[in-house]
Order: sequence, then C-alpha cells, then structure tokens
Amino acid sequence: MLISDLKKTCNECEGSGYIRGLKELGTIQINLRQLCHVCSGKGFNLTELGYDLWKLYKPMIQNLINDPLKKRTE
Ligand SMILES: [Zn+2]
Repeated sequence: MLISDLKKTCNECEGSGYIRGLKELGTIQINLRQLCHVCSGKGFNLTELGYDLWKLYKPMIQNLINDPLKKRTE
C-alpha cells in the first residue's frame, strides 16, 4: 500500500493549501491568499480508503493517548 492510495493532492489548490484569491472589486484588485475550501489548507484530501483507515485507527490512537493518563490515576 502506498501513501498515494490513502491521500491525493488536492486538485483545487494543486497541493499548496491556498487558492489564489484574485478578486476584482470595482477597479481595485486584491490578491488574497485564502485557505483552500476543498482541503481546508492541508493541500491534500483523504481517499475513500484513507478515510476508512483513519476511522479504523482513530480509536486506537485515542487509547494510546489516554492510557498513560489512566495508569497514573490507578
Ligand atoms: Zn486544496
């Protein structure tokens, strides 16, 4: 399995995480760097497989984080 099976570069911003926000307001041009709304600025999106794996691993990762805290209180 390759990492490219799990995530793919965002087509909207071509992986930069930003979209060129060249907006014309009347005669004024403002060049705004806006976070890409498709990938939320990450520059990539999870594939269906990647999202499934994330759902699978998320509880385990949360357990790993919670475990040391539990032992301390026992
Ligand atoms: Zn994007």
